[in-house]
Amino acid sequence: MKDKISSDELDKNFKYEVGAQPGGENIKKCFSCGTCTAGCPVSEVDEEFNPRKIIRMVLLGMKKEVLSSKVIWYCCSCYTCYAQCPQNVKFTDIMAVLRYLAIKEGHVRKDFLDKVYNIDNLAQKIRLDIIKCLTKEQPVDKAGENITAKVKEFIKSQG
Ligand code: SF4
Ligand code: SF4
Repeated sequence: MKDKISSDELDKNFKYEVGAQPGGENIKKCFSCGTCTAGCPVSEVDEEFNPRKIIRMVLLGMKKEVLSSKVIWYCCSCYTCYAQCPQNVKFTDIMAVLRYLAIKEGHVRKDFLDKVYNIDNLAQKIRLDIIKCLTKEQPVDKAGENITAKVKEFIKSQG
């Protein structure tokens, strides 16, 4: 994402547009405390993903920057930020609103959405494998084999 943008590129209605969608109602209540970012498992592994910054950009009116950014697809919808926000901003729902607007306004292509779906599906399979391993439903070696096979199969399927 660009860090600088000129004022004539800003869309002052963007925050109202987001706020008008179900789940986006509380966006203007954000006081930028950063609790969402501090607890986010995605921010922990990739600092480019910063929920607090995304909200500031929406409030500033950086519509094109936000909707065309790949980072709005990074969230794994774990709801940690949702549960911890002192202002009940519901950032997980705001992510869904931003994705909806990005699709509606033509910022993403269908083949990209298909890939995101496939990645989420793979991540779920791997997660279940690990949980089954931790709960002793399957041996560690078996989980390792399954994960490797699933990743290889996925990479092949993506051409
Ligand atoms: S935790 Fe809530 S109030 Fe704090 S920055 Fe995140 S969204 Fe804003
Ligand atoms: S719901 Fe998304 S933004 Fe919120 S903590 Fe989880 S991964 Fe991070």
